[in-house]
Amino acid sequence: MIDLANPAQAPARPATHPGGHPGGHPGALLGVGAVKPRGLVYDRAPMLVYWETTLACGLACRHCRATAVPERSPLELTTQEGFGLLDRVLGFGDPLPHVVFTGGDPLRRPDLETLVAGATERGIGASLAPAVTPDLTKDRLASLKAAGIQTISLSLDGSSPELHDGLRGVPGTFAMTMRAAEWAHEVGLPIQVNTLVTDTTLDDLPAIYEVVGRMGILRWSLFFLISVGRGAVLQEITPAQSEKLFGWLYDLSKVAPFQVKTTEATHYRRVATRRMEQDGLTDEEIVRTSVGRGFGIRDGNGIMFISHDGNVFPSGFLPLAVGNVRTDDIVELYRGHPVFTALRDTSRYKGRCGACQHVDRCGGSRARAFAWTGDYLEADPLCPFVPGRA
Ligand code: SF4
Repeated sequence: MIDLANPAQAPARPATHPGGHPGGHPGALLGVGAVKPRGLVYDRAPMLVYWETTLACGLACRHCRATAVPERSPLELTTQEGFGLLDRVLGFGDPLPHVVFTGGDPLRRPDLETLVAGATERGIGASLAPAVTPDLTKDRLASLKAAGIQTISLSLDGSSPELHDGLRGVPGTFAMTMRAAEWAHEVGLPIQVNTLVTDTTLDDLPAIYEVVGRMGILRWSLFFLISVGRGAVLQEITPAQSEKLFGWLYDLSKVAPFQVKTTEATHYRRVATRRMEQDGLTDEEIVRTSVGRGFGIRDGNGIMFISHDGNVFPSGFLPLAVGNVRTDDIVELYRGHPVFTALRDTSRYKGRCGACQHVDRCGGSRARAFAWTGDYLEADPLCPFVPGRA
């Protein structure tokens, strides 16, 4: 096992899958980089709209943000309401946001292909975040690709069946995930793997890296737990652990045959920027890296989230509903609702984030600040940075 604290054991390039995507696939990315970057300005439109099409899911993940349930809710947006939502996404103008169909398990919606085709017909890029259950078949992936899905994400939270299935709550999920990755390759869908970072998965990350290296993926996204939903039963890592992990991730990003990104850990941008400067990259070169293209993006700034019943949030991890697509215009909410405008105004941030020289590029996890303090403008408690230091 690689010791995350020991730079002498820097990560090596893992054995790769023959169908991998070294160097990326610029036309069809899930997450940051999926659409034309806007620089640091996201006051007019988000880059990503996450639509939780349903809460229904056959898994019982211990860390589920959505606290998913077995059955679909009668409150879900209907097909027609979904088309209405997509029409309003057009209201953001060019470049259009990218829509991520998520859940629960979006595969539980029989009209998913119709909705994806609706996005495609409107010129909106679409990605899919399915659960790995028997509903995920090669035929379904092929029909969703035909409808316009450009990328899928798969979750991998352990390097072995015991570790992964233990978190996912259903035996056999690890094996199904590996099979799903093969099917995605066979139908031509690039893959993002999402991995949860908690105190229980931290030591397993080097081994997970070896596994994802064999999966032929486009991007590895490490999601830093926020204590909401079922995630509240798991423990976040400490600030010191996150700093060590960032150092390891940066070393890894230089050799990995896929992109590496963090979710709800924007302070990785601070560490990566400093390391890139030490490596001699200019400011211009830094903003063109995959880390640089994500500068500024955080809850409510470049991101918005629509729940299964149409409520509008700054992200899936910041439980502050600002309106509902059934009665409100998402463009007006994003551009003008006081929660969204406050989230984008870094001069209102408090504590260390408010005093930090990296605030515009980083800004901290607003969701974690809210989860820990009840104030989404407070400092991100996972960041140990002392503002003013290099
Ligand atoms: S103090 Fe806040 S803005 Fe500065 S690096 Fe840390 S999380 Fe980011």
